[in-house]
Amino acid sequence: MDLTVTAALPALPAIEPGWQRALRADRGLLFDIHHAIDGPFHMVHPPRFAANLRAFQDVLTRHEVRGQVYYGKKANKAGCWLAVAADLDAGVDVASEPELVHALAHGVRGRDIGVTGAAKTDALLRLAARHGCLVAIDALDEFERAAEIARTAGRLRILLRRLPPGAPHSRFGSSDADLERALDRCVELREHLELTGFSFHLDGYAVAPRAALAHDTIEWCTRARVRGLPATAISIGGGFACRYLRDEDWAAFTRDRRDDWFHAGRQFEKFYPYAQDPTGAAMLDAVLTEQFRGRTLAERLRTADIALLLEPGRALLIDAGFTVFPVLGFKQNADYGITTAHGLSMSVSEQWKGSEFLPDPVLIPRIADPEARPVASCVGGASCMEYDVLTWRKVVLSQRPRPGDLLLYPNTAGYQMDKNESEFHQLPLPPKIVVTGAEARWQWRLDR
Ligand SMILES: *Cc1c(COP(=O)(O)O)cnc(C)c1O
Repeated sequence: MDLTVTAALPALPAIEPGWQRALRADRGLLFDIHHAIDGPFHMVHPPRFAANLRAFQDVLTRHEVRGQVYYGKKANKAGCWLAVAADLDAGVDVASEPELVHALAHGVRGRDIGVTGAAKTDALLRLAARHGCLVAIDALDEFERAAEIARTAGRLRILLRRLPPGAPHSRFGSSDADLERALDRCVELREHLELTGFSFHLDGYAVAPRAALAHDTIEWCTRARVRGLPATAISIGGGFACRYLRDEDWAAFTRDRRDDWFHAGRQFEKFYPYAQDPTGAAMLDAVLTEQFRGRTLAERLRTADIALLLEPGRALLIDAGFTVFPVLGFKQNADYGITTAHGLSMSVSEQWKGSEFLPDPVLIPRIADPEARPVASCVGGASCMEYDVLTWRKVVLSQRPRPGDLLLYPNTAGYQMDKNESEFHQLPLPPKIVVTGAEARWQWRLDR
């Protein structure tokens, strides 16, 4: 591969968190773990999750807004995050019985568990009622089912989920007409259902629509209170923005993008916005300071004594994990190579949405060759499927990959680890390795 080809390709280096840089500097560690696991593995770092979570909690505190942060559990199945949520008195947002039980098993109290998702099973509603969880009711028929279950299982705390007026084709939430009807029924069924408030979850990562809908949802609390219902909280869901790449790299990529940057000329309609602002807790701050008729959302929540609930998934996991795929082989059929990784593209969920996870994978050679020249390569998985590709983009690797080298996929904890993994070819799922400790000494264990 001559340098002119690699030089023409874009670089999208991931912004690397300090813990990962320090860990990578410990040359032997990843190879030791590879030796123990003998296959692909995910590295997860709960202290980073804790810092992300605390940053959200601090924003609420700073604005003197009562509230709760529920970790959107579907973004990563590891148990290690749940213990952190429990330690920090945060909540967890679940959508199935196993998720709910998993949260309880790691010490999260029922009252700190939110249950969302479309129509929920009777068993999930019962479990939620027994443990005092907060259930976002999606539709009128589910409302009636929940009330019926609460008659025997105990009074159920609920939110009424709104169909966002700006997203009328969403399959989640109830129309305004159905909400009105639900309010009447809440009055009639107050013995069995406690109307804690209202919720919504929006696609996209913009501040303004969230703030606008939050302001509007406060009005619904007022309407409910007029009828003597508590309505003490609103949930603004998840979708807090995240940053993986620097602005200049992302801008150059989106501006100059060409189909021949990708293996087989593969085309993509859409990419996740890998560089954006504001992100995470700063985005929550921006939502809280967005004004409506001269008053910020924070002021209105304080005045009306309404708690703000949020359900970030990805934004709590940003910079909290990465994935390591051992290299099985490398070959060259054209002016770029194909690296085959020990692992499957199912791990990298973005590959299953007709999109691509774009931060550059990093080659960690077992033996670094100081004379080596960089090579361009796409990355395929260890299956018999043409479409099993971890990276369609021709990325620049520091040297020709050899069997036994490792390929590090940065920042995969949010949705790019286990969301779509399968045991295709009867391959075992990659284990998650929980890594903690200081620079002087790393400690690692398998996630439970
Ligand atoms: C998926 C989901 C979340 C988490 O979304 P992120 O984009 O990961 O923050 C929160 N709430 C609901 C209802 C969801 O469906």
